[in-house]
Amino acid sequence: MTRYFVFFDVDETLVYQKGSVRAAMALALHQVYGETGPIDDFVMDGKTDWQIFGELLALAGLPQDVISGKLKQVFDAYCRIYPQIAQGDSIEACPGAAQLLDILAKEVQEGKMTLGLLTGNLEPIAYAKLHAVGIDTGVFELGAFGNDGRDRITLAQVARERASRVLGSEIQGEDIVIIGDTPHDIRCAQAIGARVIVTSTGRYSLTELRTYQPTFGFPDLTPVEAIVRAIKG
Ligand SMILES: [Mg+2]
Repeated sequence: MTRYFVFFDVDETLVYQKGSVRAAMALALHQVYGETGPIDDFVMDGKTDWQIFGELLALAGLPQDVISGKLKQVFDAYCRIYPQIAQGDSIEACPGAAQLLDILAKEVQEGKMTLGLLTGNLEPIAYAKLHAVGIDTGVFELGAFGNDGRDRITLAQVARERASRVLGSEIQGEDIVIIGDTPHDIRCAQAIGARVIVTSTGRYSLTELRTYQPTFGFPDLTPVEAIVRAIKG
């Protein structure tokens, strides 16, 4: 029996949030580097937190060694500031997310699936967002996060290695399914030979996403039965 490893993106795949991420990042950057770069209109979708901080600081003109030298500090500051700012923030689960995870939890119990996270968020931020909308994070057995690598393709490689370790042998790419909302999610899946399901719950329409050739596309996660079938190929 094939056991599928299903990795979920967080922002605009499982959770919608406005405002506080940018505000918390700006405060953390200012505290640690005295610079925020052009954070107000910077496109963050699909990027890792590591990449977002790095690109903003490079745009602010900081040299690479200065940026790298304090990254750990800015990650820590962001994780400290985010929960304070996010309190009372408008954050909600994307349509169908809770229902789909409930159904997949049964597959997990039957040993047919293992669920994970593959997100550009730093690990504590990813869990804080999911807890804020009442998603049971106990269902995710493994993950690759924004602190595991600078770009999403590296995170996908980390996810694949961790899946192989859980499985106890080298996992086949087609037994991994990545679920996300941006071309970055599609590209990182293709880089490790994984299948990829996208939803148009973020910045990109299904027409735009289809030009990157995802395995399947849905408007959101509400067609749960069809998504479960898509995961099982
Ligand atoms: Mg996303």
